[in-house]
Amino acid sequence: MEIVVSGIRPTGNLHLGNYFGAVKNFLRLQDEYKCFFFIADWHSLTTHPHPGDVTVNVRKILAEYLACGIDPEKAAIYVQSDVKEILELYLFLNMNAYLGELQRVTSFKEKARKQPENVNAGLLTYPTLMAADIIIHKANKVPVGKDQEQNMEMARKFARRFNTIYGVDFFPEPESYYFTGEAVKVPGLDGSGKMGKSEGNAIYLVDDAATIRKKVMKAVTDSGPTEPNSVKPEAIENLFTMLKIVSSPDTYDYFNEKYNCCEIRYGDLKKQLAEDIVQFTAPIRERILEISADVAYMDKVVAQGAEKARESASRTIKEVRKIIGFK
Ligand code: AMP
Repeated sequence: MEIVVSGIRPTGNLHLGNYFGAVKNFLRLQDEYKCFFFIADWHSLTTHPHPGDVTVNVRKILAEYLACGIDPEKAAIYVQSDVKEILELYLFLNMNAYLGELQRVTSFKEKARKQPENVNAGLLTYPTLMAADIIIHKANKVPVGKDQEQNMEMARKFARRFNTIYGVDFFPEPESYYFTGEAVKVPGLDGSGKMGKSEGNAIYLVDDAATIRKKVMKAVTDSGPTEPNSVKPEAIENLFTMLKIVSSPDTYDYFNEKYNCCEIRYGDLKKQLAEDIVQFTAPIRERILEISADVAYMDKVVAQGAEKARESASRTIKEVRKIIGFK
């Protein structure tokens, strides 16, 4: 069976954009492939040298993924720092990674520009750690966004280079896996662009009903169309896109018709949209609260994930040692 590896950032809470753009696809992947989903706590040190309480942040994001339906019986869901084998592979890969190529990576250059006071070696070798995360399980596929393409190129290069240097055909080259067709961009409701944590326009899965209603009622609109069948300005299009994602087709058609005959009342649309979002998120929110409160269950999931991941990782690293010459 093909192997999928994907990393999860342990920062913040999941919002609707994360759910429909990423998590929902993970739910499908865990049924179709042997999946390793890991919470990338080491990676966050490259930009956050004082990460605060790492364990709390890791548990928070883990509870949210579990609440969404990631199933620890199907996939290995684990914490990166529980699998020390990754570090050994990171070291081996770094020995054959060159300064020039690492310095040329766009995300390194961007981060170095953003934090000139902290251009650390971890930031420079981010692509080798990412490659280690992936090839430690001899992964075939990695679900990524377009912005990760260069890091994926590097991962393939490091896998290939290992095979070439040691004259083996050991690591498969991991492919980027795009959710073509199903990829949705969840818009922000603040007039333009997409929903995002850093955009400050996110509706979180853990938000309560009152918070969601308040956020949706604040959505940017205009004074309404004056001509039948007008093209929708971006802010309005975004509201309709959101309806399409969370509401029924009937609801979408109803408001679309109202828009097309210039009878739209944005207040009604927003009320309906808020209720549909609440209906979607409420059961997930309930599970998040339930799972977060169940420390024993969380401990069990973390231990079980670590065991599965370490089993796969130690098999790889034993072979790697042998191949390099540590008999
Ligand atoms: P982030 O934590 O913002 O890096 O998001 C993690 C992943 O969630 C991204 O790689 C995307 O796949 C997905 N994502 C985030 N925001 C959106 C959005 N507004 N629409 C669709 N997908 C999104």
